[in-house]
Amino acid sequence: MNPPLVHERLVTTALKRANLTGAFVLGKYGLSPSMACAHGCTYCDGRAERYWVDGEFDRDIVVRPNLPELLAHELPKLRERGFISIGSGITDAYQPVEQVRTIMRGCAEVIADSGLPAVVMTKNAAVTRDLDLWRRVNERSRFLLVVSLTHADDQTRAHFEPGASRVEERIDALRAFRDAGCATGVLAMPLLPGITDTDDNLGRLYDQLARIGVDFVQPGELTLRPGRQKRWFMERLADGYPGLIAEYDRLYAEERASGAPIAAYRTATASRALRHNRRVGIPFLPPHSIYRGVLHRYDEVNVLIHHMLDLYRAIGADVGRLRSAAGRYTEWLVERKARYNRRPSSRYDGLDAELIAACSGSAIPDIGDIVQNARFADLLRSVVIDRATFDYTTLRLRR
Ligand code: SF4
Repeated sequence: MNPPLVHERLVTTALKRANLTGAFVLGKYGLSPSMACAHGCTYCDGRAERYWVDGEFDRDIVVRPNLPELLAHELPKLRERGFISIGSGITDAYQPVEQVRTIMRGCAEVIADSGLPAVVMTKNAAVTRDLDLWRRVNERSRFLLVVSLTHADDQTRAHFEPGASRVEERIDALRAFRDAGCATGVLAMPLLPGITDTDDNLGRLYDQLARIGVDFVQPGELTLRPGRQKRWFMERLADGYPGLIAEYDRLYAEERASGAPIAAYRTATASRALRHNRRVGIPFLPPHSIYRGVLHRYDEVNVLIHHMLDLYRAIGADVGRLRSAAGRYTEWLVERKARYNRRPSSRYDGLDAELIAACSGSAIPDIGDIVQNARFADLLRSVVIDRATFDYTTLRLRR
């Protein structure tokens, strides 16, 4: 692979803000020190036309040198607690250019002084260089390291993720953060049909992760968006695995805009991977214990109820009533929160107080009126008032 060309681009804002914390790895404030990625994963979604990344995706790397300075200006003004989420589908904050430009380290220093929690998603073990700073973040609030890893060993990894860290290095990084007391998780995605989605690969991968004691492993299938992303991947598949072409053509024949494979494959792959989650006793979502007490209570509850939907769906439960209750809670939250968003002088702790009052029966509507589901309202009272934790493996409350 040719060395990357680094392009500097000054930005005007550091953080991309979401109204509510996302259920997917708990993101609230998105931060990205670069665009495009020299890891050059053959399946990278970032090549899809919808992201408008110019140039050669794994060679023309755009960096944002003024990010630490902007971040130092923006963080003190935030009125709401939430995870700063570093990493996205179209770049990796710890890709090789970070070794020389150290923009991410500059941001980590600012975050470490802010008292806000953070989550980093990466395929590069270079994240351990900043363990001193991320440990400080963890000591003040919470730090979550999420490593993307699907290959149980390095034999197939190099073909599909040529510029990313070796499997053993990523495992070592997870262990180092775990030993430092940080929360850790793995995105076992995208699972490649016939290569990493097999029982053999998943079994060996999950066994390694169970030995480290990661907090969650979230599996996901490969998506191939029609156009540049799919073409690029299929050419490289033909290069090393020509015998699989016919099967991929069959799985991705629908040419969905999302890039999703056929439904039967999605269901079978999810159920195979989740069997391994159950076998090793590791949940497939960031457990409640990671974000409990870190987020505002109203946001904690919103993440929890959306996770509960996925957790119950995964065991084949009928989630119709729970989905309606969750929808009513989110509707209530968005409506109440809009009032705080509009008034720059208001403090979001007031919204926490409203939720506590609704759960303790001292406000109208109370939580039972809001969710219109008595059993679910009881569960929320236990979480909000008694500070119980919902266990993602037993699906029970722990007090
Ligand atoms: S590490 Fe992520 S962003 Fe970078 S090439 Fe791989 S999939 Fe794309």
